[in-house]
Amino acid sequence: MEIQHPFYTYFEKVYGARWAELFMALQTKELQVARLNQLSKSEGESREWKALPLRSELPGCHWISEQNAVHPQRNPDELLDIYIMDPASVVVARALEVQAGDRVLDMCAAPGGKSLVLIENLAEAGEIICNDLSPERRDRLKKVIQQYVPRSIRDRVWISGKDGIQFGLKDPGGFDRILLDAPCSGERHILENAQAQKEWSPRRTEHLAVRQYSLLCSALLAVKFGGRIVYSTCSISPVENDDVIRKLIKKKKDSVKVLPSHLGVGGEKTEFGTLFLPDQCGFGPLYFSTIEKVSTKT
Ligand code: SAM
Repeated sequence: MEIQHPFYTYFEKVYGARWAELFMALQTKELQVARLNQLSKSEGESREWKALPLRSELPGCHWISEQNAVHPQRNPDELLDIYIMDPASVVVARALEVQAGDRVLDMCAAPGGKSLVLIENLAEAGEIICNDLSPERRDRLKKVIQQYVPRSIRDRVWISGKDGIQFGLKDPGGFDRILLDAPCSGERHILENAQAQKEWSPRRTEHLAVRQYSLLCSALLAVKFGGRIVYSTCSISPVENDDVIRKLIKKKKDSVKVLPSHLGVGGEKTEFGTLFLPDQCGFGPLYFSTIEKVSTKT
């Protein structure tokens, strides 16, 4: 991409002197983790991922370096043993702090890496709706759930294909916890794709922010009083991140409280949440903010 491209100059204004390095890091393969499938019984076999390093901030996650490619394999119970994902995605899903017995909504769930983290906390009791509007992506989600979740728990995992905007009206106050991992610009993807670069404009990120805000309002209606929402994106655009939360706070005033950020494994504090940027931590981008509903007046 030319440095005169509107994408480049837009983010140069946002990130200043940091941008050149961040731009390079967005085009470099990100660090990942092999997250152990805690719902499956791995019976002491020697698998290559077991030798990879662990870090105390992310229990159950082995860190993969470029030289160490590892692949999921079937355990004796036929479930896959590890799920390869961005470490920040684990932090985001865990920030929802799902408790046994909760009724949970994963509003934009496919392909399902974060759903698996949420489902682990529901192993004993509770249920989850894993929703995604896209039929193709929903097929991948179904496959992931089948590959990683035992049948006995799958009975409490529902897959649906609604527009997330519907949950607020159709099931108000129906959930203890909601993850809104919103559709976003995904600048890493844009930098890999010449067509996406041609189509990019500041207006696209603004349009997406309007959609993200509508989904967030739906989540706020759908969560119980005292319940929690985690809003996340894989965008570096503040318009899709803190600005969406700022608008919610401005419009819903006393109904919402932003909870303190989890900085975890290299996250940076923003006004309302946490941002993982690859020039700093080697993975991401990923932004999240945790919100509690403190009044039913939405
Ligand atoms: N949470 C997923 C994971 O960790 O594997 C990734 C979700 S991805 C960032 C966003 C998803 O939102 C896409 O799968 C897309 O199909 C879905 N989506 C887009 N618009 C939607 C809407 N209005 N309602 C529900 N899902 C939507």
